[in-house]
Amino acid sequence: MNEHTFSEDLARHFHFSLGRDTVQDSHLYLYNALAITIRDRLVAQWRETRESRGHQRRVGYISLEFLMGRTLNNAILNLDLDDTVRDALKGYCCGLEDVEQAEHDAGLGNGGLGRLAACFLDSCASLALPVIGYGIRYEYGMFNQQIKNGAQIEHPDNWLRNGNPWEIAAPEKAIRVKFFGHVDVIKKRSGQQYRQWNNTQDVLAVPYDMPIPGYQNGIVNTLRLWKSEATDEFDLGEFNAGSYTESVAKKNLAEQITMVLYPNDTSENGKELRLRQQYFLSSASLQDTINSYVENCGNNFDEFIALNSFQLNDTHPSIAVPELMRILMDDYAISWDDAWNITTKTMAYTNHTLLPEALEKWPVSLFANLLPRILEIIYEINARFLLQVAVAWPGDSSKQQALSLIDEGHEPQVRMAHLAIVGSYSVNGVAALHTKLLKAGLFNDFYQLWPEKFNNKTNGVTPRRWLSHCNTSLAELISSKIDKNWVADFSHVDQLAKFAEDHAFQKQWRESKKANKVVLADFVEKATGVKFDVDMMFDVQVKRIHEYKRQLLNILHVIGLYDRIRKGDTADITPRCVLIGGKAAPGYVMAKEIIKLINNVADTINLDPKAAKFLKVAFVPNYNVSAMELICPATDLSEQISTAGKEASGTGNMKFMMNGALTIGTLDGANIEIRDAVGEDNFFLFGAQAHEISDIRENYQPNEIIANSETLSAVMHLLESGHFNLFEPKIFDSIIKTIRDPDDMWLTAYDFDSYFQAQRSVDKTYQDQTLWTKMSILNTAASGVFSSDHTIRQYRDEIWKL
Ligand SMILES: *Cc1c(COP(=O)(O)O)cnc(C)c1O
Repeated sequence: MNEHTFSEDLARHFHFSLGRDTVQDSHLYLYNALAITIRDRLVAQWRETRESRGHQRRVGYISLEFLMGRTLNNAILNLDLDDTVRDALKGYCCGLEDVEQAEHDAGLGNGGLGRLAACFLDSCASLALPVIGYGIRYEYGMFNQQIKNGAQIEHPDNWLRNGNPWEIAAPEKAIRVKFFGHVDVIKKRSGQQYRQWNNTQDVLAVPYDMPIPGYQNGIVNTLRLWKSEATDEFDLGEFNAGSYTESVAKKNLAEQITMVLYPNDTSENGKELRLRQQYFLSSASLQDTINSYVENCGNNFDEFIALNSFQLNDTHPSIAVPELMRILMDDYAISWDDAWNITTKTMAYTNHTLLPEALEKWPVSLFANLLPRILEIIYEINARFLLQVAVAWPGDSSKQQALSLIDEGHEPQVRMAHLAIVGSYSVNGVAALHTKLLKAGLFNDFYQLWPEKFNNKTNGVTPRRWLSHCNTSLAELISSKIDKNWVADFSHVDQLAKFAEDHAFQKQWRESKKANKVVLADFVEKATGVKFDVDMMFDVQVKRIHEYKRQLLNILHVIGLYDRIRKGDTADITPRCVLIGGKAAPGYVMAKEIIKLINNVADTINLDPKAAKFLKVAFVPNYNVSAMELICPATDLSEQISTAGKEASGTGNMKFMMNGALTIGTLDGANIEIRDAVGEDNFFLFGAQAHEISDIRENYQPNEIIANSETLSAVMHLLESGHFNLFEPKIFDSIIKTIRDPDDMWLTAYDFDSYFQAQRSVDKTYQDQTLWTKMSILNTAASGVFSSDHTIRQYRDEIWKL
């Protein structure tokens, strides 16, 4: 197997493994043959990686979401197979670009949190770190979004319909996960008691492994995704009583667990099936790790802490804390104290949000029924923890209430974040501001108790997918100027800065951007019918639709521009194409209304001939990883406009910066660090700051603000006169109401004028293309610290100690 046999291998897989004779329009079988040909090479390196490692310390990255996108293009880049593949495809009369389209995105995540997990896996493999990803093999990933009459329609994402050539199932390694049943107290002859979880209804967790290649370093790591299956002996009782078909039907219940990803981003939804997913993932992943530990070290757990660590991606898998206790005590007869020592020295927790609606709580009654043994352990952890709290704050029982793992309300609930903090040796936020706010606010009591646990790890994104692969023209241009090693060591990208004012280089930089804009314009036209003009500025906001991210503020600016155009006040306007995209959680009514508003505003403006020269607006449907690979290389202006203190980090902001977009943004999340890195002159700042927000809210009078702002008054007048919903009366009333609401959490009216001003400064700067290009180059040059390699080195050194 080498580059000389690649063509032969491809032909053999196409004609024999898959039994095809001709290439069809969909290129599906050619894609599959190519994937298997590349997989063969990955499998060889996979084995070598495994064998070279033996039993050294390793990390399990446990996450309910991995937003992987496509695998083919990434594997070709990381294995350095581009020329080989293009050569081999010549015999089939189609280009790699066509074949790539046959691959369905692996959309096993909602947004930033899931994409972070995917970028981290790429960096771990590229840094040759023994990190295994543990996740769920959802049969249906993130829904496909269609826009019909301006509104979001959800379609199931049956991403496995045509098979998945990248995964390798290992049914022989299936693991049992217990549910329901009850706990028996067993007395030994010695008088000692122990507890047994009996009469459980077990579900099998079958591993499906995906190869994760490092960047041109021969390393292949593993993403292990669990699929739920029924055990063979399900319900023998019913079977023997003659209810054969009813008994077989019960298989469905087991297989339901991994059927579908919950499409909620930064909000919990509280469904029992979701808790089952969380326990299923946590239990299978821990048992898997312990099985391989026991294979190597036997039943002596003295080395377990030295050899293992688990990173919990948000609280979703925090049930791993009591589950590890259970396995150690019940399956390996380890004492409470020893088990607790092991647990609290191997678990590390990453917090992803400060929004109260995202903090997971599960009713105690649900636990009692579904996971009775786990609830016992949580109670015991809590009892011991509350003693510590009583010692730390003597006589202050309100502290015990506030910190307890149980929220004793009308319906008692388990607080999963508290469980994660108490059970972990490390708690990290994902940007400097976010970690600071965690320590000062949400988790302040815990911070006082254990300041040493808290640390910051600012997020990052992989420069392989998000620059090398998705922006080949810019990557080639960069490689023509600086040491090619920048892809492996992205800190070197700073060498670009010295060419920021080189006119010949600037010209090439602009040509690359323009070529990318042509590609995106074509994509937008096919998807929406809206024709973008590549000579206009591309102003982009793509991310999940959420009130805190303020797509509403963006569209109010668009309406403000449109109002000026209508009035003929166009002297200072720089023509722009505004692109907005993102999915709303299916149950999030306000987010869906915002999508509808964006589409109605777009329709009105795009139909108005007066606007054509100055403004185009499009909502791109079904924003996902593959769409972002086209969007970020073509973006001039990146919109990062969340209400300060609400966006934990953001990672979209980093992808845009790497690709030379300038940012208009608030001082929120990683925007602050982006602005620090590139310098305030190269960033368009506006808006209230996080520390001012509570004072502003205290006496917030949006109606006064609107009355005092000529532009915002005009915007509200257009909106309230029904200009964008002539035939759909009242549909935007609740949006209008929130803008005028003194309790508006997101302070949209407050930040409007400052935002509108900053946009005028954007307009002015864009007129000076020499200046703009210089700023663009400086943004890419300053993006080195936002490589996920940089982030993962910090996890490695400061949390994982690998
Ligand atoms: C990067 C990315 C995100 C996160 O974007 P934010 O702007 O940080 O919210 C969400 N979805 C996809 C598909 C992404 O690639």
